[in-house]
Formats: sequence, C-alpha cells, structure tokens
Amino acid sequence: PPPHCFHPPRLSLTDGGSAWRDWARTPLWRRAVVLRAAAQQLRDHAEFLAGFLVQEVAKPAKDARSEILRSADLIDYTAEEGVRLLAQGQLLASDAFQGADRTKLCLASPVPLGVVLCIPPFNYPVNLACSKIAPALIAGNAVVLKPPSQGALSGVLMARCFQLAGLPDGLLNVVTGRGREIGDYLVEHPGVNCISFTGGNTGLAIARRAAMVPLQMELGGKDACVVCADADLDLAASAVVKGGFSYSGQRCTAVKVVLVEEPVADALVAKVCEQIAQLTVGMPEDNASIVPVVDAKSADFIEGLVRDAEGKGAQLLQEWRREDNLIWPLLLDRVTKDMRLAWEEPFGPVVPVIRIQAAEEGVAHCNESRFGLQGCVFTRDINRALALSSAMETGTVQINAAPARGPDHFPFQGMRDSGIGSQGVTNSIKMMFKTKTTVLNLPQPNYTLG
Ligand code: NAP
Repeated sequence: PPPHCFHPPRLSLTDGGSAWRDWARTPLWRRAVVLRAAAQQLRDHAEFLAGFLVQEVAKPAKDARSEILRSADLIDYTAEEGVRLLAQGQLLASDAFQGADRTKLCLASPVPLGVVLCIPPFNYPVNLACSKIAPALIAGNAVVLKPPSQGALSGVLMARCFQLAGLPDGLLNVVTGRGREIGDYLVEHPGVNCISFTGGNTGLAIARRAAMVPLQMELGGKDACVVCADADLDLAASAVVKGGFSYSGQRCTAVKVVLVEEPVADALVAKVCEQIAQLTVGMPEDNASIVPVVDAKSADFIEGLVRDAEGKGAQLLQEWRREDNLIWPLLLDRVTKDMRLAWEEPFGPVVPVIRIQAAEEGVAHCNESRFGLQGCVFTRDINRALALSSAMETGTVQINAAPARGPDHFPFQGMRDSGIGSQGVTNSIKMMFKTKTTVLNLPQPNYTLG
C-alpha cells in the first residue's frame, strides 16, 4: 500500500524502552536486511515523498527527489558498514600491562545504548532523520523520532517506509508536536539514552538540559569561502553561487561569508553577480533556484540582517526585493566586521562579501566566529591550500569547492558552537553503541595440564 494508508503506529517511549532488547538479540545480518528493505521502500515511494517535501518545506522538486534517493543510499551504506563494524570486537591479554601476568583475557564488544532520541531540522527532514535512524537501528537501538513541525508529514511517511519494510513494532516511534512544547519532555525523559540532534541554537539549550547521555549535536554554521588572488575565479564564483544560494541558502553548509583578497575582489564580485542574474526566483514545484524561505519569521530575520548591513555602509549589488517569504538573491559587498551579517547565519539567499588583504586574515575571521562547521579555500597553490586548511579551525575544509556534507560516509563534524560528536555513516554508527567487556580469568601461569 502507499505509505499514506496506514494506522498511526503506537507511540510511546515505553515501547522503545523494551523493544530494543529483542532487536539487539536479532542477528546483525537480519537487522541489515530490514534496513535495506526500508531503503527500497523509500525508492519505491520517492515521488510520493518528494511531493510532501515540496509542499511542507518548499524544497525544489528535483532536490526533494534527490533527498529521498540519497537517504535510501545512505541507509544501504549504513546496513553494509554496520555489519562489518559491529561484527568486530577486541581481545586483549592482561600481560601487555606493566607487571601483569597473562591471567586475564578481555573480550570487548559493541552493545546498543537503548533508546535514541532523534531530532532533525526542517531543511532535510527525511535525509537528516535517516542519517540518525539507520545507524541507531543497525547498532540495535530503538528510536524516538521528533520530526520538525514543518516537515512532520514527510517524517511520518518516511517512518512508514520502515514499517512497510518489516521493522518490528516499537523500534521506530514518531512523536510530532512543536519542539518548544514537547521538546523538554523528550530531552529530559529518563527513558532516553542518547540524543542525536540537528538544528540551530536550540541545540545549545538541549545540551544544557540533557541528562548524562551521549550527545550527537550538529548545529549551525557560518561557512567561510576564502578566495586567494591566484584562484580560478570562474570556479570560485560558481561555488559561491551554488554554495550560497541553493535552496535559498537554507543549508548548514551554505557559503555564508565570502572573504576575498582585494586584488581580485572586483573580478570575483562581477562574476558572481553575472551568475546571480541567471537564477530563477519562484515556487518549488517549478524547480526555481530561489524558493520562499521556510516562514515569515525567518524572512523577517534575514531582512533585519540586510537592513543592519545597509545602514552601516554595505553595498547591495542587487535591488532588495521581498514578497512574503520569497526573497530575491542578494550579494552584499564591502561588509565589515561591525555588521551582524559578518557573523550571523542568515539561512536565506543573502551572501556577504568581506574584502581582505591576505587569506590569513580570512582564516582569522573564520576562527573568530563562534561557529566552526566547514570552510573552503580557493587557490592554485596546493601548499598554500594545505597551510590555510590546517590553520582554519572548522570540522571540514574544502579545497577549490564549496562546503558540502556528502558523500555521506565522509566524517562530518562541527567545532565550537557547531556541534559535538561526529557524523558520517561510520562515525554515526560508532556514536550509537557502548563497549562492553567480559573478562575471562585464567588459571595462574604455573598451571600445568597435569
Ligand atoms: P531548529 O529551530 O533548531 O529546530 C531543529 C529541531 O529542533 C526541530 O525539529 C524543532 O522542532 C526542534 N526543537 C525546537 N525546540 C526544541 C526544544 N526545546 N527541544 C527539542 N527540540 C526542539 O533548527 P531549524 O530551523 O529546523 O534548522 C535550521 C538550523 O539547523 C540552522 O541553524 C542550520 O545551520 C542547522 N543545521 C545544521 C546542520 C549540521 O549538520 N550541522 C544540518 C542542517 C541544519 P519544531 O520544528 O517543532 O520547532
């Protein structure tokens, strides 16, 4: 049946609280079979689910479809990686430690955490839910999913795909509701053994409220694009436009500030403006490049950042234009450090340019930010690129390309207020188990077989 024809699953933390024990005893290969079946269900229902993403979060239709297919691929990869990784343990002999005899053998193996609370954001309600659910399930945990309010239907229907795939009841529980109303209850619930969260500053508050459970937090970013004077400016301009304006800039890894060396600043800005003029502005159903931002509050926030910069002397290179939540793409030149746009995450189609004397100044700006998600560097000099990368204090640095999260098996983590723990399939699986040791105590070394 299509995923919308279903009875609401039973939803309670108590279900997850007991269900994971049976699931943890289910052979690993069987857990992988269920995950692969869920991936197939997502593929089979890709058009249907993508339609919800278009309507709920205004995602351009082709990007919505890619999000579903990418999620299916991520689940498949997680199933495969999980069976390899979770099959492994460790055997340690005691006499490696100073002064000890070989009288003990330690067997260390992964055991699940229990119930994992997964809270994804609106911008990738399916993909960022799957990137939490699949590692949690393959490692033998149960999941409580709290989808974003905008994106909740997509989240529920995605969960239905796991049900259609044969995932036993009680393992994937969906609780919908406004985060500000039900969030504290979930985060502080004693039945929760791990929290995997992606979102904005809300995550900082969650980290303070959470009990003593492992946290996997992916928070905001202010990804800097540092352009050196020797860079391929066509490449850099394309990266600024694609990186800064795709999905109207509503991506954690969007280019959120450009720092360009003065000698090439005019040329870069001209190339970026040329490409901005080619962007289409409209509705997600029509696959417009620039679509309405998620809500009026976000649009007001973006407008506030632009007005602040304009008032302090930034140069608007396109006309400011807004109709309800639809904001036309805008590049702001000669942004300075006293402007909010130099530091805050607009999460909209608005990109500030700061002119610098040398790339090191750009890296210093990036390191001064409270965010440390990704950054990128454009130069033809590989030694310079590597030196700048090692100086840039972010979870990832891209050389000669815009910041990006994928491929989804690459490690992905933020520094400072951008997060705790690491993502990427392998690292996410590693976040979802504890190590249990069993120690075999052996006869004394002088024991003889008789
Ligand atoms: P958000 O407002 O922080 O919301 C994220 C999730 O938290 C939503 O499901 C939200 O539910 C829920 N929530 C809200 N208040 C809560 C509370 N008190 N307790 C528990 N949960 C609560 O973020 P967003 O606007 O959806 O997403 C945009 C942000 O996410 C940006 O800052 C972006 O950079 C960041 N992001 C980061 C990454 C990364 O990998 N680092 C990836 C994508 C996005 P409701 O929808 O019901 O409020």
